[in-house]
Amino acid sequence: MQSIKSKVIEWVTKQIKDSYIDSEKESIKDLYHRFKIKGFCDDPEIFLVVTRLGLEWGYDTYVWDGPATPVPTKRIIRNLSWDTLNSLNVEERKDKIIYEMVKAVDSKKREYLRCKFCNNKMHSTEFYDNTTCIICAENHLGIYIVY
Ligand SMILES: [Zn+2]
Repeated sequence: MQSIKSKVIEWVTKQIKDSYIDSEKESIKDLYHRFKIKGFCDDPEIFLVVTRLGLEWGYDTYVWDGPATPVPTKRIIRNLSWDTLNSLNVEERKDKIIYEMVKAVDSKKREYLRCKFCNNKMHSTEFYDNTTCIICAENHLGIYIVY
């Protein structure tokens, strides 16, 4: 299986070629470039967006505005300023973008856990504790979670 790192390298290389994400002048601002992280239950996704200030990585999530109203929002997990990028040459710039992107993927991956019963990798909110998902807690441990 292709490692996440090599997928990131491939993806960043393509975004630089197609969308000039490493260029303050030529990149299109506020366009969300999406990257799927494979091997997890719901194929989590992170995005890269180019802004006036630099590059930002994050993902879509919800904040709860009151008990029953989820509001879609974007959480930024890493960023890289044009000041930093412009001080580097073309190769260094690409390496730096890849480095930050791998960190962003890692931080998203850390929200996922593997269940010791069904072996699925799911988001931590679907877990009963650190090792057992809610469904397996019911099936294997006889624990019923009431919402
Ligand atoms: Zn499970």
